[in-house]
Amino acid sequence: MPSRKFADGEVVMGRWPGSVLYYEVQVTSYDDVAHLYTVKYKDGTELALKESDIRSQSSFKHRKSQSSSSSPSRRSSSRSRSRSRSPGRPARGRRRSASQSREHKDDKKKAIIQETSLALPVLVLFKPSENNTKRYNGEPETTEKNDTSCIILEQKLKPDLEVKRVLEQYSLRSRKDDKKKEEIFSEKKTFVAVKPIEKVSTKTKELEFGGRIGTFMMMFLLPATVLYLLLMCKQDDPSLLNFPPLPALESFWEWKAFGIFVLWFLLQAVFYMLPIGKVVEGLPLSNGRRLQYRINGFYAFILTAAAVGVLLYLEFELHYLYDHFMQFAVSAAAFSLALSIYLYVRSLKAPEEELAPGGNSGYFIYDFFIGHELNPRIGSFDLKYFCELRPGLIGWVVINLAMLLAEMKIHNLSVPSLSMILVNSFQLLYVVDALWNEEAVLTTMDITHDGFGFMLAFGDLVWVPFVYSLQAFYLVGHPTTITWPIAAAITVLNCVGYYIFRSANSQKNNFRRNPADPKLANLKFIPTATGKGLLVTGWWGFVRHPNYLGDIIMALAWSLPCGFNHILPYFYVIYFVCLLVHREARDEHHCKQKYGLAWERYCQRVPYRIFPYIY
Ligand code: NDP
Repeated sequence: MPSRKFADGEVVMGRWPGSVLYYEVQVTSYDDVAHLYTVKYKDGTELALKESDIRSQSSFKHRKSQSSSSSPSRRSSSRSRSRSRSPGRPARGRRRSASQSREHKDDKKKAIIQETSLALPVLVLFKPSENNTKRYNGEPETTEKNDTSCIILEQKLKPDLEVKRVLEQYSLRSRKDDKKKEEIFSEKKTFVAVKPIEKVSTKTKELEFGGRIGTFMMMFLLPATVLYLLLMCKQDDPSLLNFPPLPALESFWEWKAFGIFVLWFLLQAVFYMLPIGKVVEGLPLSNGRRLQYRINGFYAFILTAAAVGVLLYLEFELHYLYDHFMQFAVSAAAFSLALSIYLYVRSLKAPEEELAPGGNSGYFIYDFFIGHELNPRIGSFDLKYFCELRPGLIGWVVINLAMLLAEMKIHNLSVPSLSMILVNSFQLLYVVDALWNEEAVLTTMDITHDGFGFMLAFGDLVWVPFVYSLQAFYLVGHPTTITWPIAAAITVLNCVGYYIFRSANSQKNNFRRNPADPKLANLKFIPTATGKGLLVTGWWGFVRHPNYLGDIIMALAWSLPCGFNHILPYFYVIYFVCLLVHREARDEHHCKQKYGLAWERYCQRVPYRIFPYIY
């Protein structure tokens, strides 16, 4: 067994996960079993790194001094050239045209190469400083002020100039006008050529959702909840304690329903594969690679609408969906279980670097539930990305439409009820918005952190279409009359929720895509050691998850048209508050790890998580 190379307390250079950034870190411990070093960054962030992601400070200096020589590694230029052409990197011209570099020649303490905008990879070399191992928890304010390498300052955003100023605060320097920096850059190329970037070992140590026992129970609890809700909804009196009688087992299954579900899935897969819509790149993976994704969800929706229109024109009974709703839900559940088994089996052969940071615990049940492989693909067909927004989300709209038609047929109406129109319209807006902004899903936790396993397969294919459509399903069996003024008030509520949800999400997405966007010039942010900023004004200065707030307001507006006779149609909003509170906690945890002290600062600045003055 190889012995450890770095001792506890040693100050070394640690690679920032998923990037080519090297920061000064201090080794705090070593895990003999996993062969991982726990290191502390200057901002207090603690991470577990492989030995291959750690370099001694002297080796950096040594390389630097050699950089202009024709070292063997530098001669293998093809690799370094291909990396520098990687789409995650800026175009050469852009790098060279940067006129920002002349200003910072006096900075002797740090040398940082900035290759492009704040969000792109940079190579960072810090000189050792006397005290850089603060914890972000319980750290006295005073020590922070001494640490010039991670000063957290608010910064007004203005294009170029302001980005430059932020870089300046970090002592980020362009390599163009500085010979030294050229050397360091060639050193970086040298490093890249010597060894391709390796993934930080991502054994999942902190188990979520109650760990193995919790996830095991959820695998039964989730399908049971769907069953319970659908059976309740069919009852004349769906009061909570009025448990529905369990139908005969064979009535849960119908091959025709299963066949239709599979056809639906395949149809959406065909739409997904159509070569229409732009192709974009996802966030960099831990090995620095970026996957490509086709953005054509909205086209898929239009094509689906046309297909449903043709079916209705041919007098196909969409009502069938309502009559066999339970069988469809069971079919979708069976399909998602089969898909999860396939996903887990194939994940066993996946290389370590393709496993999900969240679903690599080594425990079968846990990894099966969370998802072991991060981005399972068959060729270029990305299974998780496809399932996130297509079969389930578009299916939800079709189910809602089927409920609307069922209501008209069963109650002999010439037009749907006002309640049904509201529920259908609000949820249609939500789905269309998600598909229109499909690209935004690429930065969500589901895509970047969780693997594709039972949780997402069941969530996407069963939970979303069959539970989120509960209000429409409820209204078919429990007609509810609302007046126009009430309908208007609920519509206003939905619009307010949508406005908060959309503008908060757009603000963050635009900021992440281009922090120097002139449209965001009035926003302030806290820079972080990763190069990304944290917005502290605008929606993200109001609460820490304004998008969740908007989402929850909309959820309430979807339930209100069902009146107050039963709590059942409010299941969605109650569940959604729990989901988002839990999700917010997960996200906080990840952000704390990512941003360390800067995140602490952000939380001090913006104390409320979702509900202002409440939570
Ligand atoms: P969010 O869109 O809320 O993104 C969270 C990430 O945003 C953080 O990890 C961080 O990532 C970044 N961030 C946090 N604070 C700031 C800040 N101050 N400034 C800039 N960036 C910041 O994540 P979700 O995936 O949870 O949600 C996406 C949308 O989907 C939401 O609108 C949510 O309501 C909705 N949703 C809907 C569900 C449904 O079932 N209907 C289920 C779950 C979510 P980084 O810094 O790495 O960029």
